[in-house]
Amino acid sequence: MVDPVHLVWFKRDLRIQDHKPLAEAARAGRVVPLYIVEPDYWRLPDVSRRHWHFIHDSLVDLNQALQDLDASLLLRVGPVLSVLADLRQTCGPFTLWSHQETGNAWTYERDKQVQAWCKAQGIVWHELPAHGVVRGLTSRDGWSDLRNARMSEAVIEAPAKLSCVRDLASDPLPDKEDPLFGTAVASVQKGGRREGLHVLESFLRERAKKYMLTISKPGISARHCSRLSAHIAYGTLSVREIEQATQRRMQDLAVQGDDEARFLRKNLSAFLSRLAWRCHFVQKLEQQPDLEFHCQHRAFEGMREDAFRQDYFEAWASGHTGYPLIDAAMRSLQANGWITFRMRAMLVSFASYHLWLDWRQTAPFLARLFTDYEPGIHYAQFQMQSGVTGINAVRMYNPVKQSLDHDPEGKFIRRYVPELADVPAQWIHEPWRMPQPPKDYPPPLVDHASAIAFARAQISARRKGDDFQSQARAVNQKLGSRSKQPKRMVARKKDQTQLAFDL
Ligand SMILES: Cc1cc2nc3c(=O)[nH]c(=O)nc-3n(C[C@H](O)[C@H](O)[C@H](O)COP(=O)(O)OP(=O)(O)OC[C@H]3O[C@@H](n4cnc5c(N)ncnc54)[C@H](O)[C@@H]3O)c2cc1C
Repeated sequence: MVDPVHLVWFKRDLRIQDHKPLAEAARAGRVVPLYIVEPDYWRLPDVSRRHWHFIHDSLVDLNQALQDLDASLLLRVGPVLSVLADLRQTCGPFTLWSHQETGNAWTYERDKQVQAWCKAQGIVWHELPAHGVVRGLTSRDGWSDLRNARMSEAVIEAPAKLSCVRDLASDPLPDKEDPLFGTAVASVQKGGRREGLHVLESFLRERAKKYMLTISKPGISARHCSRLSAHIAYGTLSVREIEQATQRRMQDLAVQGDDEARFLRKNLSAFLSRLAWRCHFVQKLEQQPDLEFHCQHRAFEGMREDAFRQDYFEAWASGHTGYPLIDAAMRSLQANGWITFRMRAMLVSFASYHLWLDWRQTAPFLARLFTDYEPGIHYAQFQMQSGVTGINAVRMYNPVKQSLDHDPEGKFIRRYVPELADVPAQWIHEPWRMPQPPKDYPPPLVDHASAIAFARAQISARRKGDDFQSQARAVNQKLGSRSKQPKRMVARKKDQTQLAFDL
C-alpha cells in the first residue's frame, strides 16, 4: 500500500524553521509543500501588488530552502477548493496541515469552506496555533500567560530531510508584474527569510540603539525601528524566533553591563513589549472576526457613515490636505510602503476626526499601501485611532503640533512635498500663514480647531448613551488588555475611557 500524503498548506508562514505543521507532516510521511495563489483574494479592496512583491520574494526563498532538502514547493493558481479537489484526485486521500490563520473576513470564510470540504471528504485538517494567538477564547483573562508560555517553547528546527511527492505539476510562480495583483507600486521592502534574518541581526546588533529615541520621527525611524513587521506578517520569521533572539541578545548585554549595553537593553525591552502587542491585537480579530466591518463598541455605529466626503477622501489619500506633515506622511507611504506608528496614527486620526471619514472607507486604502498589512493589527488600530472601541483613550492628533515635535526643521516635509521645498523653517508647519503662500500647495482643507470641536462633541454625545458603560465593560471583558495601567492614568479616568485632544 502507498503511504498517505501529507499536504502542508503554507499561508502567512513562509518559512521552514519553527514551522510545526511542516515538522509534524515530515515525521508522519510523504509531504507536499503547497502554496496557493487565489485569484479572488487578489481582487479584494484591502490587498495590493505591494503585498505580492513581498510574498514573491518570500516564496522564492521558501522554494530554495525546500530545494536544499531535495524537495520543492508546489505552486498552484486557483480557488483553494478546486486545487484541493484536484490534488485529492491525483494523490488520493491526504492529511492537510497548516497554521491557524487570523486573516481578513475573506480568508476566514474561505477556511470555513475548506473545513466543510475536508469534513465531507473525510480528510483530516490539522490547524496548529500560530504565534501567541489562542483560538477559541471568549475572555481575555489568562491570555497573556498562555501567550508567554508559547513564546518560551523551544523553536522547532527545520526538518533535516523531507520525503516528498515528486511528480506533481506546479504552476509557474506568477510574475511580480502580473496584472492579477493590481496596479503598479513604487519601491517595496524586500521579502524572504534571508533578508528577514539580516534585518533582525542588524536591529539587535546596532540599529536598536536609537529605537525609542527615534520611533516617532517620520524620517529616521525607518532606520532605527526593527522593520520586521512585513516579515512577521508573512511569517518569514516566527514571532517566537524573534522574541528568543532578542532575549539572548539582552542576556549578553546584561553580562556586558556598561551604560551603552544598559541603554540598548532598554530599547530591546520596549521592542519585546511591541511584539506582545502584536499578538494582543491579532487576538482581538481572532475572537471577533467582524471587527473588520463593525465598531467594537456598537454605540459608534451610524456616527460617520453618511457624512463621507469623496473630495476629502481624495485630498487625504493623495497627500493634498494643506497640512504639510499629513501630506508628507501620506506621500512617503505611497513611495515606500512603510511609515512609523505615530505617523500611521496621525494619518488615521486626521481622516477620522478632522475629515470625519468613516474608518471602513479609509482602512482598506491604507491596507493596500502598507507592505506589512496584518488584518488583526490594522482594523483594531484603525478603530482605536478613530475613537470607536469604547475602551481606549480617544486621541486626536494636532498635525501642526506633531510637525513641530517630530520634524521641527521640516526636512521630512520638504523631501516629500516638493511644493514646499523653498519654504523657510519659520513657515514650514503652517505655510498658509505666509504673507505669500506657495501657489501650488493647497490651503488647509479644514480648520483644525473647529473640526476637532465638532468631532469631540459627536464622540462625547455617543458616550453619554444609557448603556454605553455596560457595553464598554462587556467589550473590555472580551477583548481588553489585562496589562496594568500606570497609576496616574487610572486616577484620571472617570469612566472606561479618556478623551485627549491636541496631542
Ligand atoms: C492605523 C494603524 C494601522 C496599523 N496597521 C498595521 C499593519 O497592518 N501591520 C502591522 O504590522 N502593524 C500595523 N500597525 C502597527 C505599527 O505601526 C507597525 O507594526 C510598525 O510601525 C511596524 O514597524 P516595525 O516592524 O519597524 O515596528 P517595531 O516598532 O520594530 O515593532 C516590532 C513589531 O511589533 C509589532 N507592533 C509594533 N507596534 C505595534 C502596535 N502599535 N500594535 C500592534 N503591534 C505592533 C509589529 O509586529 C512590529 O513589527 C498599525 C498602526 C496603526 C496606527
